[in-house]
Amino acid sequence: MISKRYAELPPLPERINRLEELAVDLWWIWHPQAREVFRQLDYPLWRHTDHNPVRMLRVVARERLEAAAREPGFLALYDRALADLEAARQARDTWWSDRYDGTHGHCIAYFSAEFALHQSLPIYAGGLGVLAGDHCKEASDLGVPLVGVGFMYPQGYFHQHLSTEGWQEERYERLDWADAPIEPAVTPDGRPCVTAVPLGDRTVLVAVWRVRLGRVKLYLLDTDLEENAPWDRELSARLYGGDRETRIQQEIVLGIGGVRALRALGSRPAVCHLNEGHAAFVVLQRIRDLLEEGASFDAALDQVRQTTVFTTHTPVAAGHDAFPFQLVEKHLAGCWGTLGEHRSRFLSLGEYTGPGGSQFNMTALAIRTSGTVNAVSQLHGHVTREMWAPLWPGTSEAQRPVGAITNGVHVPTWLSAELSGLLDRQLGTDWRERHDDPALWDRLRDVPDEELWQVRQALRGYLFAYLRERARQRWAEDHAAISSVVGAGLLLDPSALTIGFARRFTAYKRPELIFHDAARLAALLSARGRPVQIVFAGKAHPADDQGKHRLQEIYRRAIDPAFGGRIAFLDDYDLHVAHFLVQGCDVWLNTPRKPLEASGTSGMKAAMNGVPHLSIGDGWWAEAYNGANGWLIDGGVSGDDQAAADAADAAALYRLLEDEVVPAFYDRGPDQIPRRWLRIVRESIRTVTPQFSARRMLKEYVDGMYGPIYRQVEAAALQADR
Ligand SMILES: *Cc1c(COP(=O)(O)O)cnc(C)c1O
Repeated sequence: MISKRYAELPPLPERINRLEELAVDLWWIWHPQAREVFRQLDYPLWRHTDHNPVRMLRVVARERLEAAAREPGFLALYDRALADLEAARQARDTWWSDRYDGTHGHCIAYFSAEFALHQSLPIYAGGLGVLAGDHCKEASDLGVPLVGVGFMYPQGYFHQHLSTEGWQEERYERLDWADAPIEPAVTPDGRPCVTAVPLGDRTVLVAVWRVRLGRVKLYLLDTDLEENAPWDRELSARLYGGDRETRIQQEIVLGIGGVRALRALGSRPAVCHLNEGHAAFVVLQRIRDLLEEGASFDAALDQVRQTTVFTTHTPVAAGHDAFPFQLVEKHLAGCWGTLGEHRSRFLSLGEYTGPGGSQFNMTALAIRTSGTVNAVSQLHGHVTREMWAPLWPGTSEAQRPVGAITNGVHVPTWLSAELSGLLDRQLGTDWRERHDDPALWDRLRDVPDEELWQVRQALRGYLFAYLRERARQRWAEDHAAISSVVGAGLLLDPSALTIGFARRFTAYKRPELIFHDAARLAALLSARGRPVQIVFAGKAHPADDQGKHRLQEIYRRAIDPAFGGRIAFLDDYDLHVAHFLVQGCDVWLNTPRKPLEASGTSGMKAAMNGVPHLSIGDGWWAEAYNGANGWLIDGGVSGDDQAAADAADAAALYRLLEDEVVPAFYDRGPDQIPRRWLRIVRESIRTVTPQFSARRMLKEYVDGMYGPIYRQVEAAALQADR
């Protein structure tokens, strides 16, 4: 049943027959020596497949493989990459094992509706997925015994296409499974893992796929099995694509099916981490399991609470799933089992009165059943404690048990190869191991301006080569109108100051803020000798027409001659596009309506590549801005008058651009090097990289949350052995 869809790769020459192993372990993504193997195997194909080694191995010419198997240079690379992979998987002395050694094989189970690991696995929509993916990669690096649980959406999230009028069209493409870096997950007795989830009055079978990330494994659930009814096969087809009924059923599959799959696979979670409320039904299955072992409801709830960790990700009300009780009752009908007599107690754990009246709220459920709860920036911590205050009646903010761990991004994934190479030469290669140590980054002061500027110029060059190639494809393959090609960036100038703005298109992110005074902006963009340009990218949620209108507005500006061809919209934003943008722009712009940006992470990726942040003091930037590492937009107007706040923030933004950003960039000596600018670039890299790394973040999760629980669970297991 499963093997039908999982295609075996064609046989490889004996000498290089472990290439497949290297291709299906996503460890290669953040290890340059492994990437180099595939680049050298067939560079045009590497580019043509958007860096997808599994697809490469399916289509690469047999002669090329045989030639590679005889090239000493290639073989040396291949041997080294495999040896490094082996070493990474088996290392005994990791950061984790030095602190939290265990003997019972316990793991940390991390549940998330999306994971962004690579563009070849389109099971993510945006920031939440990127955070989950980076969390897993870092866990592999630190040796944290983490196991991820999510969905294998056969159609993933949509591809964005813009009509000639700039209206977003969503295209769903069925993933060719043979091209995806997934394998069937197998149970300890060697059989493909399939688990059953009761949904309403029926049972849905769920297949489980495995993704390898060095030491970490990710298990992905999939309902598209022949045994299931057609509508059940479609349940896991798309990420965030369905209606409320689909959504709650997906969440039941994720929570209940996820716990069952881990049990079938022989995993023993010491901690369950719910990444956002989507996964909160995990606690239902766990309580039920404990009742079956003879515990009382209170004892079961208590034990689950002690071992569950929850992270909330947004202050936007619509970002928190709530369902009418009757919908919950309908779809959970088959799930109760021994929990049946406590049904009303369980349902009351999710009861919350919000804008839609009293509903079953997944965030309320997660908060009430998790012993440790955190927000994703310090400011978001305050906002969360206020937002959910009704859960702790009569308490002051300080008494409400919600902490904060500010997000971070996986440095080896996001730092460009060019900058990494410069750091290797200037800091010594130990910077890679110690990159979350702020003291190390003081060495950046010794990096010469010339070399830093060379890296910045090279990265901008790659962005423009990429933009131009995409515009050319549109022109040649889609027979696009010339205006669409202009909108895609045809007229951009590769040496001009380039502002990047890429994120989901939604009201609170205010993508249109920079157009508040169109004439002032047009003058700024086309100032003689000091041109400025803006590259936009981002998708609107398929159901968010308001977001699509905003996007269309931006597109109209991009093709409006008044802006001189200095605005572009790059469609189909994904991880691949994000890499080019966060590395290749000069400034990264963010203009959310404060305090609705919980953290934001694209600005961190940019800042550590020497692309300073120009942002409202919301989310992570409220902690990171130090007066010298970027710019803070502050119109000084808060409160309910949104129009007044918009006008003030826009004016503050123009002032910064006109008086500080543009002059610093174009202040050049006879050698054309912008030394004033490079001081900001250097300060941006120095301050942001260690502090906003996933390494710093994961260490906080481990020391503050996972570690203490893990020790207790291990100790209890030892006790039970005696
Ligand atoms: C980093 C990233 C995001 C999240 O960026 P925000 O700044 O949090 O909006 C979204 N999508 C992609 C593809 C990313 O790489």
